[in-house]
Amino acid sequence: MADALYQRLSQLDYFIKNPEHLSFVEAENDPYQRKSLVASMILDHSRPTLIGIGHIDTVSTIDYGKYRDLATESESLKQAFLQDLAQFKPSVQQDLMNSDYLFGRGSLDMKAGVGAWCEVCTLLDQYPHLAKANLILGFVCDEEGNSLGMQSILSKLINIKDTFHLTYLGVIDTDYTAPKTTDSDEYTMYCGTIGKFLLNIAVFGKEAHASDPLEGIDASMILSALISKLCYNQQLSETSLGKVSPVMVPLHIEDSQQAYSVQTAKMAWGYVNVCFYKRPIEQWMNMFEVIAQQVVEELQQKMRLALSAQGSTKEPVPIRVITQKQLSKSKLDLYLPDERLEAYRYVQDSYQSVMNDEALIVLYISPPYYPAFTIDPQHSPLVTYIQSNVQSTHPYTIEPYYPYISDMSFVKGVNQHEIEALKQYMPNDHRIDERMLHMMSALDCEMINIGPLGKDAHQWTERVSLSSFDWLINTLAQCVLEVKDEIFDSNE
Ligand SMILES: [Zn+2]
Repeated sequence: MADALYQRLSQLDYFIKNPEHLSFVEAENDPYQRKSLVASMILDHSRPTLIGIGHIDTVSTIDYGKYRDLATESESLKQAFLQDLAQFKPSVQQDLMNSDYLFGRGSLDMKAGVGAWCEVCTLLDQYPHLAKANLILGFVCDEEGNSLGMQSILSKLINIKDTFHLTYLGVIDTDYTAPKTTDSDEYTMYCGTIGKFLLNIAVFGKEAHASDPLEGIDASMILSALISKLCYNQQLSETSLGKVSPVMVPLHIEDSQQAYSVQTAKMAWGYVNVCFYKRPIEQWMNMFEVIAQQVVEELQQKMRLALSAQGSTKEPVPIRVITQKQLSKSKLDLYLPDERLEAYRYVQDSYQSVMNDEALIVLYISPPYYPAFTIDPQHSPLVTYIQSNVQSTHPYTIEPYYPYISDMSFVKGVNQHEIEALKQYMPNDHRIDERMLHMMSALDCEMINIGPLGKDAHQWTERVSLSSFDWLINTLAQCVLEVKDEIFDSNE
């Protein structure tokens, strides 16, 4: 994909004259050895510079099933879908019959956004005398995985800024947007971004015979009770600038049982997706600790009732709640391909030193960590620049927080307190990349997402609205060019 973009952009006059302004950047430690492409069009050093980003990877096409071969052939895919029209839900049927919608893997997330930047590049090349900003584009090779692409181009962006003494106005990502209600087609720009971290819960129970479960406490029981309390729980969401963060959801749950056994599980482990805006990590973790304590009390009450029903006066097995902060650091030196499993191994190792007859819940954080950034649209120079330069052809709103995790989490410095807290709660804190955090601080850009509108990203009915794509090109072009009508007339 980076090669295809290179082929296309290298034909432009600007890059024929300045071939060194078009360069590949290899992703570091990427098992697939992918590369990103950075294209800088620097027309006047004294002008402001905008950074545009777009990820060139997509999620897999496996969900297309029998249509998989056509997943990236939009026209043929639509024809095939139309032949089986009845199997789709009414809203998809409607869009299949609407020529405004283009289907296919990546159509929405985010080949449309990447395509729009290519168009803007071409316009800037054709009308350099109308340029009012320089444009640096980062076509990044991995977003859907770990945002390796964005992270690998940071040093390049800092380098270009220093070499050409540029002033970076901010970063515009063109990742997708989705309607906020099913029938709204309102265009939305998002300034700032949501963040996320993974809350991990390791439970060390007390094994027992399945016919005598109250002799111990099953680790899976404790884990599932805590996960039920935390997840889909609106009360734990955060509200900031009028936005309510998504509820937590478990992404993985397992226990130590390798096969059928009449012994209850000794260990269980799970991790939960936590999206956040502003609430500090320390506050989140304190909140989780309080909830875990409540769960423990409820479980023990349940066990007491069961024990007394059986005529026993025994007390249930005690369950203690701690966080990684209270657990001594493991001396392990481990590097596993799965950073979550790696963190769990560290916690298991530390547990050996505190192991006793109690059951134990350990709360900690594992990678990945996506910082959140709050930008009040009222006070953002980047938003002001866009508002004063864009005469939109369609009504739009500007809202805080892009609602999906994205590359925008890596273009601005993170508060040092948060990094310290993260280190304290992460058993494998060697995974925190200090060098990258420094580069993020050095770049220190505001960010906004201006993307096409579409539906069902990451589903096989993924589709993009072509009129929103036209709007996107027009809007982005106005951010970097003094747009006169003839530009668009001649390009139709
Ligand atoms: Zn995307």
